Amino acid sequence: MTSHISHWIDGRLSPGTSGRTSPVFNPATGVQTAEVELAGAADIAKAISSAKAAAAGWRRTSLSKRTAVLFKFRELLHARTPELAAIITAEHGKVLSDAAGEIARGLENAEFACGVPQLLKGGFSEQAASGVDVYSIRQPLGVVAGITPFNFPAMVPLWMCANAIACGNAFILKPSEKDPSAALFLAQLWKEAGLPDGVFTVLQGDKEAVDGLLTSPDIAAVSFVGSTPIARYIYETGTAHGKRVQALGGAKNHMVVLPDADIDMAADAAVSAAYGAAGERCMSISVAVAVGDAGDKLVEAIAARLPKLRIGDGADPNSEMGPLISRVHRDKVADYIRQGAEAGATVVVDGRDNDLPKDGYFLGVTLLDHVTPDMSVYTDEIFGPVLCVVRAETYAEAVELVNKHEFGNGVAIYTRDGGAAREFQFEVEAGMVGVNVPIPVPVAYYSFGGWKASLFGDTHMYGPDGIHFYTRGKVVTSRWPDPATSSIDLGFPQTR
Ligand code: NAD
Repeated sequence: MTSHISHWIDGRLSPGTSGRTSPVFNPATGVQTAEVELAGAADIAKAISSAKAAAAGWRRTSLSKRTAVLFKFRELLHARTPELAAIITAEHGKVLSDAAGEIARGLENAEFACGVPQLLKGGFSEQAASGVDVYSIRQPLGVVAGITPFNFPAMVPLWMCANAIACGNAFILKPSEKDPSAALFLAQLWKEAGLPDGVFTVLQGDKEAVDGLLTSPDIAAVSFVGSTPIARYIYETGTAHGKRVQALGGAKNHMVVLPDADIDMAADAAVSAAYGAAGERCMSISVAVAVGDAGDKLVEAIAARLPKLRIGDGADPNSEMGPLISRVHRDKVADYIRQGAEAGATVVVDGRDNDLPKDGYFLGVTLLDHVTPDMSVYTDEIFGPVLCVVRAETYAEAVELVNKHEFGNGVAIYTRDGGAAREFQFEVEAGMVGVNVPIPVPVAYYSFGGWKASLFGDTHMYGPDGIHFYTRGKVVTSRWPDPATSSIDLGFPQTR
């Protein structure tokens, strides 16, 4: 029996009126488990008007009361991680430990947001002019929206909502229609934490919901995470409608392995970062650039590790890698392997060749060697368990390759040479760099974001950039003079 997933408006489940729905599947079995509503104009208007009304009261709520809600939310999320992880695994397919991992990384953002009284402190200059004091404050924007991808149904919403709410905004989440239940679980936790109704809203839907948010004059800012073509569209449409927009896009993360690297350590890292979550992470490693004689040793070491990986239902604690999100996506990834082979890449391990359950959206792991920059497996984001190895003669050639790529999300270097690593972080064109760290997702008190086609907008997500994004500055110049000194002066105000 399939369940019915609706919106969350005004602090409760809120059935929509559009009559449109989308099926939700368990990727491990291929069975439809639910249908999710897709918002129409009336649902969008209802969500926005509820959020708008709530925003007015929430921004007046004291920092200490807001912080109390955030601490409570953090405690609830921590305590109920296993429940939420099971929900994620059932709709996304990733293994339970990985689902718990994404919640833990999301939780960091709630912890960061608990420090909001400190984060929102402004400056104060006493006696800037005679009898005049000047101070700066940061105020919330009003109603802000977050549009999120399927691959992190809890972590990415938490990147956004914890800071947005802490800063005094009302937040409308439009989650991926492929795995919409985690958003409702978060909504329930916010309510239990004491957040007033309407401050956190879930609007289920597709392009229609997104366009409704992007064009509404009542939405002040939009945070987006997803693929590059949609990120570009969100940025262009949102800014054309006068909104502040941060839109994070796709990736093709390179891992440069220098000849002096510890090859076993590099191979362990490459396997973990390429095939974890079946390669459906924006920070997955999808290209290993093997420099000089590191090539043969690295390919051999990676290939030796692959037969031992345990692929299966994410709900089975023995599984290390689950299925892909959908049948269509699984077939698209498999087709990339075909394209790579036809273009002349060496298929060291072929994930199409597997005895995994056929009803689920499983694909084995693939290792392609001697990939060249003109191949589609190199240029495109595949978003699946496929690792490409590109051979480079020198360090300089490897860096040039990374810097020429369209995307610039994450990048890693494996080496024992501190000087080479330092030069690499200096000249590489990517927003997040790992030195002997394969997935350098910044901790919550830094900010997350790529360069080039991986980010549209000026601010990165969460951390200090998140606080900046969800607030606007105001400077107050005030005088409490002795009335006896008052006079008329038509000149331009000067500091005296
Ligand atoms: P997607 O771009 O298909 O969807 C993202 C969101 O946009 C969803 O909520 C979806 O409903 C909505 N959407 C889809 N098509 C739309 C359209 N035509 N108009 C308006 N809205 C639309 O991405 P996805 O497949 O859910 O997620 C995978 C992608 O996200 C990958 O490209 C991955 O690299 C990227 N991603 C990036 C980061 C990052 O931090 N840079 C993090 C996670 C995922």
